Amino acid sequence: MYYPDELIEEVRTRNDIVDVISDYVRLQKKGSSYFGLCPFHNEKSPSFSVSRQKQMYYCFGCGAGGNVFTFLMEYENFSFMEAVKFLADRAGIALPEAEYSKEAKQRADLKASILEINKIAARYYYVQLKSERGVGAHTYLTDRGLTEETITAFGLGYSTKYSDDLYQYLRGKGYSEDLIRQAGLINTDERQGVYDKFWNRVIFPIMDVNSRVIGFGGRVMGDGKPKYLNSPETAVFDKSRNLYGLNRARTSRKTYFLLCEGYMDVISLHQAGFTNAVASLGTALTSGHASLIKRYVQEVYLTYDSDDAGTRAALRAVPILKEAGISAKVIRMDPYKDPDEFIKKSWRAGI
Ligand SMILES: [Zn+2]
Repeated sequence: MYYPDELIEEVRTRNDIVDVISDYVRLQKKGSSYFGLCPFHNEKSPSFSVSRQKQMYYCFGCGAGGNVFTFLMEYENFSFMEAVKFLADRAGIALPEAEYSKEAKQRADLKASILEINKIAARYYYVQLKSERGVGAHTYLTDRGLTEETITAFGLGYSTKYSDDLYQYLRGKGYSEDLIRQAGLINTDERQGVYDKFWNRVIFPIMDVNSRVIGFGGRVMGDGKPKYLNSPETAVFDKSRNLYGLNRARTSRKTYFLLCEGYMDVISLHQAGFTNAVASLGTALTSGHASLIKRYVQEVYLTYDSDDAGTRAALRAVPILKEAGISAKVIRMDPYKDPDEFIKKSWRAGI
């Protein structure tokens, strides 16, 4: 699939490079150019320049350079076509339908449908949390010290005790049982029939780097098992290639990430101002995670739980990070159990 050169050119001219890069890098005007901290290498003083006149960027520190398309290809890891599509959307330019093979088209349609359903489900869970039914879950979150602002920022929600609530809601919106199943939101049982995957749980929507909801994590209210439950892998959810909180952490403008174990750790850290915290999603750190991290930072501090399991997991993660060229350091949380507890106790103590 190719787009005509004129169309590519229109997309380029309708997306001023200074505006586009400003969404990722804080730029300041200096003479005829704009300068900021380079997103492609670690630095303390800005050597990354963007020229509105030339519609190009260049880093005097690491030599990275190019136009608005190459910036997105580097920063977002987009293919050229993805960068064109992203910028066309941004400028409101309609692109002709791409000619996919039949299989590729079906796959792309399935992904789009699952993302759409996930978004609706996330909103549904969020509304439940704020409703009468969600009072218990809401209290649980505020008891854990989360503010209303944080709950909204992370889109936290609640799945009710009614076992097919979401399923009925989505069916009512016209989605097929098959599609809802492929989104990982329901299970089927011989006796019960179809039932929601998540019920009576606080819901943590899991987003990709572009803040699209790709799956969910749920923490049970009360003593149900398992305590934490994640969406199964779907056409849009690959646990080994996504990190919780990355959509926010990548714009933190810090040169390192804090890598922790759970959703609550990430959320507590962000609320406390550590907006560079991320977590792997109920799996051990993989090389896929490491190369994802490498796109944004070259340095990671591991803030895993201080128990034996956490320490072992941290020690296993270090070589994987090093292998990817990331420098890794382990922060010992003791005497605290995890970063969440550390923040609460040390804040209370006024540290
Ligand atoms: Zn650079």
